[in-house]
Amino acid sequence: MTETGETGPQPRACPICGKPAAPAIAPFCSARCADVDLHRWLAGAYVVPGTTGEAETEREVAEDEPDA
Ligand SMILES: [Zn+2]
Repeated sequence: MTETGETGPQPRACPICGKPAAPAIAPFCSARCADVDLHRWLAGAYVVPGTTGEAETEREVAEDEPDA
């Protein structure tokens, strides 16, 4: 095993604010950012875009043809 010392544990950037993540709460930098991400995830889980009755928007649009 060769210890170069150059491949240390590099802290990932927090996906929320971009700060170096804390090992205790990686990949976030703080509990606050983790909470923000959690809320985002929950919001995305509840509010699924395109699944609220607007899935069938491909109606035949042949009734508004401009008569030349
Ligand atoms: Zn953060």
